[in-house]
Amino acid sequence: MMIQRCGGNQDWPGGRDEAEIESAVRDKRLLSLELEWAGSGRMRTLSPAEREAVVEQALALGARRFILQDGGGALADRDALALLRRIRSRGGEAVVITGGRSLSRAVAGELADLGVHVIWRWPARRPAPIGRGAAPAGLPRNLAHLLSAGYPAPGFSLGIRIPVGRSGLRKVEKIWRWSRSLGLTPSLERTWRGDARETRRGPSVSPAELRTLAGRLAAIEARGGGSDWSSRTFPALFGCDRFRTSLAVTAEGDVRPCLGLGLKLGNVRETDLGRIVGNDPVLAEMRNPRTKVNGFCRTCGFAATCSGCRALARLWTDDPWASDPECWEKNVPAGDVHAVDVVRRIPHKGPMRFLRGTAWLDDKKAILAMRLPRRGVFIARDGTVIPLVLVEMLAQLCAAQRAHDLGSPDGSRVHGYLVGMDHVHFRKPIAAGDPLRLIVWNTLELNEINRVEGEVFRGPELVARAELTLIKAETWLAPEDGAANDASPAADPRIPFPGWVSDPMGRGILRAVRRFEVEADGALRAVLRFDPDFVGFDGHFPGHPVVPGVGLVYAGLLLAEIGLGRNLVFRSLKRARFLKPVRPSVPLDVQVRISRRDGDSGIAAEVKMLLGGETAAKYEFGADEAGGGGR
Ligand code: SF4
Repeated sequence: MMIQRCGGNQDWPGGRDEAEIESAVRDKRLLSLELEWAGSGRMRTLSPAEREAVVEQALALGARRFILQDGGGALADRDALALLRRIRSRGGEAVVITGGRSLSRAVAGELADLGVHVIWRWPARRPAPIGRGAAPAGLPRNLAHLLSAGYPAPGFSLGIRIPVGRSGLRKVEKIWRWSRSLGLTPSLERTWRGDARETRRGPSVSPAELRTLAGRLAAIEARGGGSDWSSRTFPALFGCDRFRTSLAVTAEGDVRPCLGLGLKLGNVRETDLGRIVGNDPVLAEMRNPRTKVNGFCRTCGFAATCSGCRALARLWTDDPWASDPECWEKNVPAGDVHAVDVVRRIPHKGPMRFLRGTAWLDDKKAILAMRLPRRGVFIARDGTVIPLVLVEMLAQLCAAQRAHDLGSPDGSRVHGYLVGMDHVHFRKPIAAGDPLRLIVWNTLELNEINRVEGEVFRGPELVARAELTLIKAETWLAPEDGAANDASPAADPRIPFPGWVSDPMGRGILRAVRRFEVEADGALRAVLRFDPDFVGFDGHFPGHPVVPGVGLVYAGLLLAEIGLGRNLVFRSLKRARFLKPVRPSVPLDVQVRISRRDGDSGIAAEVKMLLGGETAAKYEFGADEAGGGGR
């Protein structure tokens, strides 16, 4: 397992030149190269000749800055010093980021003579220095070597990289002030273990704490710190877009967009950097991140200049294009903030009200943190949660937002319907009792149409995301005359109902299945009729019952389970349109077409639902076969 350390764009002494970055992207050039120097225990590391060849390739592509990430022992290694000398002799700028364990007095002098910038990592467990000005007693010897070699001076700066973690944000401030008092350049570092596929723990510092820290550091700088910290382009503390003009090469020669992002683009033993920069499709996307970034990062007010940290996005969401999961712009209400009691505000009542607690609204988003209850309409006996409930929860958070906008304390002035769902993905299973954080933000408001996006997190992990279309109405829609048909048939006892369904919504839907057959072409046909006591009508909405959209989608999954005789796990939903409200005691004709997904055991299904011959709902969903057991 690798330790990943990153300071975002902060190891960029001298600041950014946006025009130069844009021209390098356009011309498929590099501006910098990161080289990892491994500690002991790594196999098949690059030879000195291979590293030199990589440096030459980067120089040929225009790179001028070379950043050596010392994973341990680099500064006691003559090969590393020879490489730095070569970089300098070829006109390159060299930066070494090091814990400095192997740094001797002689090497410190050599680095100063070569004009190598050094960024020294403050050890995570080391207490903050006491006092300002002169080096305090107990200064690490290797740092003292750098100071006595003349660091910092014009042409060879000395930075202090401060780890941000549980050891204390006050400590970070103290080290920051102390660094400034010695003329050193402080910066922050985030540390995490492994890449996206390895065991993860939540970040030790919350986005709100990061925002507080950033504010305090900006205040220090405003009082005369001297760095460009307070004018940082990126509000996301560790956000950067260095991969637009940079590449990273691991000790073994793997090429990545940056060292923290475990996306392998090739290996320098098999291909050269020019081919990767010129032809790699993944890198081409990374070099133009603004067109690819999703979620809140796409619509945020800083989107033109910030794309968040792609490594953290991949770490916590498995998607390098997800919005930065740790950015406070997205996670912390700001500006004019309103607290809204969701229980009272939303029109959903009884068992169909899934939210509780206080939502926080600002002018960009609504955020609600709550724990899933142990029991509920979408919760099975074993605590399994049907993930579709998350979509309904996001819709209910929108309703709370609207109640606030309308000044409707009890939600009675809020009328509306969920009429579309797109790009719905359930990324992780959730269970009863899980702590969740829901965020919704508007992407379009046009007359009565409201489009929103939403994400659900468990800790920093993205578990679901969805795009919803809602229609606002002045009042609830009246049922169409003659829609009810009390002559619809009783359930056919021969239908092979799945025995594993134990959640009240699933059981209620199965009770509504009156006819089921498989046609000659494999399509499933069913007739559903929801009796007035169907749980989905209980509070959705009081006095104006309609089957919730998520209930209609769940019905498609259950019919597929009946047809296949297998337990399925819902994964994704797209092109869902709800065109007519489905009310009690109305026969609904349903057709489900199932196809196998290529390359795995999953299925894709197209569902169409008709009321009196007219389309009431249609959607496409994807599901995987469950490992076994019930729910
Ligand atoms: S939400 Fe995304 S784009 Fe906006 S500031 Fe945060 S990381 Fe940057």
